[in-house]
Order: sequence, then C-alpha cells, then structure tokens
Amino acid sequence: MSDQDIAQNLIAIQQKIEAAAKDAGRDPKDITLVAVSKTKPVDDIYTAISAGQLHFGENRMKELEDKMAEIDMPEVVWHFIGNLQTNKIKYIADRVNWIHSVEKAKYLKEIEKRAAQANRVVNALIQVNISDEKQKGGCKPEDLSSILESAQDYNHVQVRGLMGMATFADDPEDVRQEFKLLKELFDEHQKYNEGSVQLEHLSMGMTNDMEVAIQEGATMVRIGSAIFGERNYD
Ligand SMILES: *Cc1c(COP(=O)(O)O)cnc(C)c1O
Repeated sequence: MSDQDIAQNLIAIQQKIEAAAKDAGRDPKDITLVAVSKTKPVDDIYTAISAGQLHFGENRMKELEDKMAEIDMPEVVWHFIGNLQTNKIKYIADRVNWIHSVEKAKYLKEIEKRAAQANRVVNALIQVNISDEKQKGGCKPEDLSSILESAQDYNHVQVRGLMGMATFADDPEDVRQEFKLLKELFDEHQKYNEGSVQLEHLSMGMTNDMEVAIQEGATMVRIGSAIFGERNYD
C-alpha cells in the first residue's frame, strides 16, 4: 500500500462507518475505528497516524510489544486483539490500553497484577465465542457471568465490554445472528456491572462484516485489510 492509499482507505472506511451508523439511527461518534496493523510495518502505522488515525490493533504479543516500543507517542491507543499468553502479559501491561481477547478469569488476574506493577489501568473486553469455529477463541456464553463476577474488585483492570468474531462468510447477512447473540449477551449481563466491571462496549465487525456489526450495535470495529491491504499471513 502506498501512503496515499492508506490515507484514502481510512477516509473511505470512516465514511462507511458514518453511513452504517446513520442507517441504524446511531451516532457515528459512538463507534471507534481500530486499525488492525498486524503483520504491517511501522511505517504504515506512521502513515495512518499522519492521516489522523490513533487506535491500532495487533494480534501477536511480541509484535505489539515491539511496535509500542518503537512508536513512542502517548496519543496512540493500543489494542491487543489476539491470543493471550499469561507469561507474556508482563511485556505489554506497561503500555497497552485495551485487551479485547480475555477469555478466562486467570488472564484478568494477571493483567491486574502486571498493570498494578506498572501503576496503570488497562481496559479489558471479554471475548465470547459466538461462532461455531473453535479456533476463533473466546469463552462460552455460559461462562461469561462467572468471569465477570471474578473481576468486580480489581483496581488496575476494568472490564468495559465484550468482543466477538463472527464466522467467516461471503455474505455478511449470514452472520447477523452471531452479532445479535453478542448484543443479547451484552444486554443480559449488564446486571454484573459493579466496581471494575462496567459493560459499555461491543467490539465486533471486521472488513467483511463491519456494516452488519454496526447495525447490531458495535461500538468498536476492528479493520485491517480494508486499510492496510491484504496480508500474506495472519
Ligand atoms: C486480523 C483481525 C481483524 C481484522 O481483519 P480484517 O478482515 O483484515 O479487517 C480483526 N479482528 C481480529 C481479532 C483479527 O485477528
């Protein structure tokens, strides 16, 4: 992708977000675009920053750690969206702002410990498996209540919502039900809002299914290839 392409892609995506939000009777300002820069060089991230983009998502812990160290700009908001490994949380806890992919209570405990050592607060989303695909990760819907209950008394991690990945589908209409399910779980679990649990965000929607996700209530969309181009690997 040339610098110009990245800048133009960002404008096009913002326009799509606005149109989808307006269609759904929602305020576009309630939807945060997380630019998923995984596998892409830091120069592409700088290009996006120059174009006004500040939220970036990465799905590998080491890659996030390296990019956060290299791009030393306090205004950049970093999101981790991939598989967590307990023993590596300490390497990202001193800088990461959001972790979308928490699927077990034990990860919250470790984030609390490491964020405390860094004297910070990290925002977390609980990932729920809304597809039939095991490899997509996430807790089972029935485990959500116990994970939320475990997190109400933390000081350095705040559980701010839920994240889900839909099944890959050529027609995004085919996965509307999965987004509806996540929104239902989000509504049903509002009763666990207490202390450090306050469910207010729904991270759902990627390049292929963003518009449907926004219609179903997404407040964060995670967009990679429509901004930075196709990837050779994930
Ligand atoms: C790669 C990735 C995305 C972005 O995918 P695109 O289809 O390129 O928009 C979003 N969420 C997660 C968890 C990812 O791993």
